[in-house]
Amino acid sequence: MMQEPLFMQPVFQEKIWGGNRLHTVFGFDLPSDKIGEDWAISAHPHGRSVILNGTYQGMTLDQLWAEHKELFGQPSEEVFPLLIKILDAEDDLSVQVHPDDEYGKQHAGELGKTECWYIIDANPGAEIIYGHQAKTKEELTQMIQEGRWDDLLKRVPVKKGDFFFVPSGTIHAIGKGIMILETQQSSDTTYRVYDYDRKDNQGNTRELHIQQSIDVTTVPASTPQLAVKEIRKGNSALTTYLETEFFNVYEWQVKGELTIDAKGPYTLMTVIEGFGYLVVDGKEYELKMGTSCIIPNGIQQWQIKGDVKIIASDTAKK
Ligand code: ZN
Repeated sequence: MMQEPLFMQPVFQEKIWGGNRLHTVFGFDLPSDKIGEDWAISAHPHGRSVILNGTYQGMTLDQLWAEHKELFGQPSEEVFPLLIKILDAEDDLSVQVHPDDEYGKQHAGELGKTECWYIIDANPGAEIIYGHQAKTKEELTQMIQEGRWDDLLKRVPVKKGDFFFVPSGTIHAIGKGIMILETQQSSDTTYRVYDYDRKDNQGNTRELHIQQSIDVTTVPASTPQLAVKEIRKGNSALTTYLETEFFNVYEWQVKGELTIDAKGPYTLMTVIEGFGYLVVDGKEYELKMGTSCIIPNGIQQWQIKGDVKIIASDTAKK
């Protein structure tokens, strides 16, 4: 049977820090003006992708993972391991940290969360929080208890095209005015360390998870070094941002036509700029901003045509 790419219906998540750039920039019809996240490719129970086309149209990704393992190269993992999001932060996200797999399994009954961010856009002066200054757990605990946030938290200015690796245990926050494409483990476990003492309309603050945050934060903070590799082919470029045990992340910048070979058992892709076509066995599929799909195991080579930028990912095991 001829295999087809699996196109995903976006799942929009309303957030108090969200905005409307998923509409104004990406052209999605949004249910509100406070949409913080598009879960572009997800098998997570908090927002499951539905397949839009082909033989499996109408099925959810978690269903496909359970019932059609051949599409993913007969994986051994129980759950689909990745989650792809586009985030629009109109306001600052809370300062947070995620557990690793061991802590996540034990305390939240799901995977931990290692994640990474491609900065799609950032307003002038936009910053992220990325890491901390504490030398020991005791110091971390004390600084949190005393609310010495300016001493504790490391701020980093960002611009369009930057890339950040955020392993589990890293204290982090996306600042206002930033849009990112996030590639992460399929997990929704977040421990909130600090929320800028913000209150909602009812005067309530959001729940914090101080003890869990202290438990899972890596001390001292490690700043991962990226070994970014770029291969140019004509006017196009293939960039490898990251190769980890959880996922590998690539950028495909296509001007004209580019042939790509599968590196993992299946490949996830999301269009973040421009317009083009994905060509599989001579059949063309339209790619516009926000289009997401999985290229299943049976497709080993494909072409991208047009003037288009894509963030793609796969898992380490071939
Ligand atoms: Zn996070």
